[in-house]
Amino acid sequence: MPAQIYHGTPQNLRRLAQVLRRGGLVAVPTETVYGLAANALDAKACRQIFRAKRRPANDPLIVHVADLRMLARIAAPNDAVAKLARAFWPGPLTLVLARISAVPDVVTAGLPSVAVRMPAHPLLRRLLRLCNLPLAAPSANPFGYLSPTTAEHVQAGLGRSIAHILDGGPCRHGLESTIVDIRDPRRPVLLRPGVITAAQLRRVLGVAVRTATRRRTARLPALAPGLLHRHYSPRQPLVTKPRITAAMVERAHSDEAWICFRKPAWADGRKNIFWLSARGDLREAGRQLFALLRRLDHGGWRRLHAELVPANGAGLAINDRLRRAAAPRG
Ligand code: AMP
Ligand code: MG
Repeated sequence: MPAQIYHGTPQNLRRLAQVLRRGGLVAVPTETVYGLAANALDAKACRQIFRAKRRPANDPLIVHVADLRMLARIAAPNDAVAKLARAFWPGPLTLVLARISAVPDVVTAGLPSVAVRMPAHPLLRRLLRLCNLPLAAPSANPFGYLSPTTAEHVQAGLGRSIAHILDGGPCRHGLESTIVDIRDPRRPVLLRPGVITAAQLRRVLGVAVRTATRRRTARLPALAPGLLHRHYSPRQPLVTKPRITAAMVERAHSDEAWICFRKPAWADGRKNIFWLSARGDLREAGRQLFALLRRLDHGGWRRLHAELVPANGAGLAINDRLRRAAAPRG
């Protein structure tokens, strides 16, 4: 039986909070992508997340909290947390902090740290308050596939393995959160780029934010699978291009699809040209990215080509996802 999709009425939210309190799973809307939530303090409930997603056990979960009091139930805050929370929470920023012992190993994949975020989506915030539990919630998709940005995407990917989906409309950002390891506030490390940039973090923290290197993450494969070489991927082959030109499209087969950043002047009359934002807006491009890749993945195209976007602001996160989506298997 497919999962039931709920609208965010007070009665539905109470019912879903009850499901979570009893150790069940609920797919939830966030401002980044849809998440698959369970009580973060219940190891058995969290193990079900891994089963439903076919997620490897060495890939830790992000824990969502309603406020800083709830954060203190799972992690040890420091001065940097207060600063970052004031500037960016609720919002698309995940902090890696020292965990406290109440957090089950399954959530952190055995790491001594835990990833925490205070989400902004009003329905998820209401649900967090109603169940009064920190909620572990990775993206609500089968492991490795494109992230879901609507309730229908969740239904298509996980509808046969879960029972409850809360519909909060299309996600405002459409890209997973920025992740920064802030255990040492003097040496913050960016583990995954997102809509909130390293430059913004540096302005608030007053220190440079290093980017996790391949060497560091190769030694620590479980550290941030958001850093997995191949991730967020369509089934059809995808190739990134610094630029897409009319000449390139003319030389290729007509059953190949081309995803440009903005609408090209030569697009009219061609059925295989698509764009992330007609007027070249990075925020809109981020919002559209996974939804468009998903649509084209099921559109019968033999190959997808995607143009990299300007490398500033949210563009850095978009290019990061495009490169991972296009990385070879294995
Ligand atoms: P997802 O929500 O599916 O994008 O997955 C959550 C991601 O958060 C994981 O893949 C990791 O990249 C990251 N993460 C979660 N916990 C930790 C942690 N303790 N240390 C570093 N990264 C983490
Ligand atoms: Mg994911």
